[in-house]
Amino acid sequence: DLPAEKHEYQAEVNRLMDLIVHSLYSNKEVFLRELVSNASDALDKLRYLSVTDPELLKDGPQLDIRIQTDKDNGIITIIDSGIGMTKQELIDSLGTIASSGTAKFLKALKESQEAGMDSNLIGQFGVGFYSSFLVSEKVVVSTKSPKSDKQYVWEGQADSGSYTIREEKDPEKLIPRGTRLTLYLKRDDKGFAHPERIQKLLKNYSQFVSFPIYTWQEKGFTKEVEVDEDPAEAKKEGDDDTKTEPKKKTKTVVEKYWDWELANETQPIWLRNPKEVSTEEYNEFYKKTFNEYLDPLASSHFTTEGEVEFRSILFVPATRKDDITDSRKTKNIRLYVKRVFISDDFDGELFPRYLSFVKGVVDSNDLPLNVSREILQESRIVRIMRKRLVRKAFDMILGISCSENRDDYERFWENYGKFLKLGAMEDKENHKRIAPLLRFSSSQSNDELISLDEYVENMKPEQKDIYFIAADSLSSAKNAPFLERLTEKDYEVLLFVDPMDEVAIQNLSSYKDKKFVDITKEDLDLGDNNEEREKEIKQEFSQTCDWIKNRLGDKVARVDISNRLRSSPCVLVAAKFGWSANMERLMRAQSM
Ligand code: ADP
Ligand code: MG
Repeated sequence: DLPAEKHEYQAEVNRLMDLIVHSLYSNKEVFLRELVSNASDALDKLRYLSVTDPELLKDGPQLDIRIQTDKDNGIITIIDSGIGMTKQELIDSLGTIASSGTAKFLKALKESQEAGMDSNLIGQFGVGFYSSFLVSEKVVVSTKSPKSDKQYVWEGQADSGSYTIREEKDPEKLIPRGTRLTLYLKRDDKGFAHPERIQKLLKNYSQFVSFPIYTWQEKGFTKEVEVDEDPAEAKKEGDDDTKTEPKKKTKTVVEKYWDWELANETQPIWLRNPKEVSTEEYNEFYKKTFNEYLDPLASSHFTTEGEVEFRSILFVPATRKDDITDSRKTKNIRLYVKRVFISDDFDGELFPRYLSFVKGVVDSNDLPLNVSREILQESRIVRIMRKRLVRKAFDMILGISCSENRDDYERFWENYGKFLKLGAMEDKENHKRIAPLLRFSSSQSNDELISLDEYVENMKPEQKDIYFIAADSLSSAKNAPFLERLTEKDYEVLLFVDPMDEVAIQNLSSYKDKKFVDITKEDLDLGDNNEEREKEIKQEFSQTCDWIKNRLGDKVARVDISNRLRSSPCVLVAAKFGWSANMERLMRAQSM
């Protein structure tokens, strides 16, 4: 027999293990969620591969998860018939930080450490496999990959910087395929090994796992049996002393036995009729599937039929975890083909970048099961799906903006406003959908942002255009001399303080047939010019203008008489076809 090989953990894992083992985190039960989700991932991988290689299932066609408990000894065993791991995969997965979720956890932890360690992070991010050490002093993983003819055992202890790997020799523990994970619970956590406790936790954590999960439960049924009546009893009943056959009596007994019991419902929620699914169920599904903490801001469940058939549930997360400039994969859209999970790496093919914050599942009946990114990119079906998905996403966002509760959209805008502005720049085809969702500061509202619809509603009868000014802060926009004449006429002016505002608006160029007009550009026409009077004044002051131009030289292109001011003596304007001052600032910032 070969001895067990000893391996050291990667430094980050050591750090993580240390945190987990010594954490005061009270919500330890998340370990079950993490381990069941790993089992479910392993089954997903196998099911996906078996589509093209049915041989993989020859050792056992059933794909399920089985959980056994030994409450006397405090042991939980989780067995899945999934893809398993080779020896190398064991080393790569359970000893280094494989999961991006766990890496994110460490990053968030670092950031929050000044503010004192927040143990809630464990629940928010999930620390994957290592969360088994929240409750265990020893973890044993025995696993068999179809790629290998040997079964290997990984064994790790809490509070140890290393783990061991050996070959499985115990014939009782051999499995045809998959993974058998055994948790030896810490003394204080042995309560988790009660079958009813596990069943209850599974109901809570795993109701949306699409493979059956069975738990080993003690059951009982009642049965009537005939027993001889107690002779003493019989005597009491009759005064008769004569010997008779012992009387028979029926008695109810409980017969105990153990059996597997299904703990979850396996029909995916998106296959159900939207009319029969409650908001709570959608919210739960969302939180469990995407490991989220907060309810989504909105959800949308729909089926499309006809040319292309697919089902989908989309969500808008309540907070944004990734930045728009984040180049990391978002894993926000889970793609299924005929209920088989294909990948969560194809977001970019199904949604434009500016909608990458949308999360959800998409299940298509029309794509091939061996679909790849290349196929998706070429596919006409995907082009149609993408169009529909985008439209539904906009409907969902519009829904938030129409909500009774103004806070909802404010929250949305705070998180995703930049994304929509990017959409205005990048996606001409959807301008009509994006424009009503934009929000801006305005000269006539204090802190509240307004929509273009609200602006148009508030336009004066004779007002033709939508006016805006771009500046580097709200106060400089509000105090700009350019505003004077418009304020006098009681015209509202949009105040662009985010550099993206102006670029987004330039791409839209008009809204409901009303042009966007920059009030800092020369020849601003408010339709009230008195040409006679202007001519006179221009003549009268032409020498003054020449004198000023001489003094300023190249610093200005021209010095003119203007009718746009009321109380300020002068103002710097940009040429009609040139860049606005704000754009110049932007360009300068970019070239540095
Ligand atoms: P994540 O699931 O986010 O990748 P985990 O820490 O939960 O991170 O798991 C790490 C890796 O270990 C998984 O990616 C997978 O490759 C492997 N793994 C864990 N559990 C199993 C299992 N039951 N069957 C097969 N592989 C597993
Ligand atoms: Mg995991």
